[in-house]
Amino acid sequence: MILPGKTILAMSASVETVTINPTNIAKENKEKIATALANIFELDYENVLKKVQKRSSIETIIKKVDKEKTNELRKWMDENQITTGINIDEDTKRYYPYNNLASHVIGFCGVDNQGLDGIEVTFDDILKGTTGKIAKLADGKGGELLNEGEEYTPPVNGKDLVLSINMSAQAIAEKYLKQACIDNECTDGGNILVMNPKTGDIIAMATYPDYNLNEPYEPNTEELKETWDTLSSGDKTKQLQQMWRNRAIADSYEPGSTFKLLTASAALEEGITTTDKEGEFSCTGGIEVSGVRIRCWRYYRPHGSESLRQALMNSCNPVFISLRTKNRQRKIL
Ligand SMILES: [Zn+2]
Repeated sequence: MILPGKTILAMSASVETVTINPTNIAKENKEKIATALANIFELDYENVLKKVQKRSSIETIIKKVDKEKTNELRKWMDENQITTGINIDEDTKRYYPYNNLASHVIGFCGVDNQGLDGIEVTFDDILKGTTGKIAKLADGKGGELLNEGEEYTPPVNGKDLVLSINMSAQAIAEKYLKQACIDNECTDGGNILVMNPKTGDIIAMATYPDYNLNEPYEPNTEELKETWDTLSSGDKTKQLQQMWRNRAIADSYEPGSTFKLLTASAALEEGITTTDKEGEFSCTGGIEVSGVRIRCWRYYRPHGSESLRQALMNSCNPVFISLRTKNRQRKIL
C-alpha cells in the first residue's frame, strides 16, 4: 500500500517459486526436464536430475525467482507439451529500495520471508500476514484427484508499519557519520541518534559501517571482503552478526561527564541552584555516597569553592553528586 507523503523503505515484491512432483513426471521426460530446469535457472544439472528422479511427491527446484525466468519455463513447457509434474507458484520476496539506508533499523528477512533482524523481526507478527493455501486430495503417488474436496484459503496481507524515521535526516546523519568515521579513523565505527526531545520519536538512527539489506550475507567493508574466503564458517557468522548489530541500541556506552549537563539543567529548572552563586559548592577532592567515597578527577588538588558554572568548567564530580542530595533534601522537606 502506498501511503501519501511516506517513503517505502521495505516492501514485498511478487516473485515465483518452482517445485516439481517427481512421481508425476514420465520416465522418458526426466532427463529432458532436468536439462531445461538446470539451463533456465542456472542450476547444477546433476542436482536437478537427482530431484527429478526421486520417489518423493514434491521437491523444490528454486525459490523466489523473477517472473521473466518462470515465463521462460512456461514457454518451454508449452513447446514440449509438459503439463504435469512442474508447478509454478506465486511467492513474495522482501525488497529494500534504498539498499544500505537505515539498514540497522530496518533489518531483513530470511528465505521464507520471516523477519531475522531489526524491525523486520521485532514487528514480524504484524507485518507478515497469513499465507494462503489450497488443500486438496492426492493419490499415493502425489497425483491430483481432480475436483475432490479442494479447499482454498485466501492469503491475508500483513499490515503496514510507519516509522518516525525521517528519510532526509537519516540520509544526512549517515553521510556525515561515515565522513567523521573516515576522517578520524574510527576503526570501530560510530553512531548518530537524532531524537525529538518533546516526543521521544527517533528521527534518525545511524550506524557505521552499514550494510546492504538486499545482500545481508555479503561482507560490508573492503577489509572484510579481502579476508572473507579465508574465514571459517563460524568466524563468518560472528562477523555477520557484528555487521548486523544495531550498536546504537544494542551496546551500552557510559555517558560520563556529558551527563553533567543534564543534572545541571534539571537542577536549574527545579530552582535548587543558580549558575553563578559564588561559593555555593565546595570540592574537597571527593564525596561519600552510601559509604563509598567517589573522587573528583582532581582529588590531589581539590577545586575548593565553586559556583555551578565553575563546577561545569572544571567537570567536578562532587558538585553534581551534591546537587542530587540537594534535590532529595528538598523533596523530604
Ligand atoms: Zn572537584
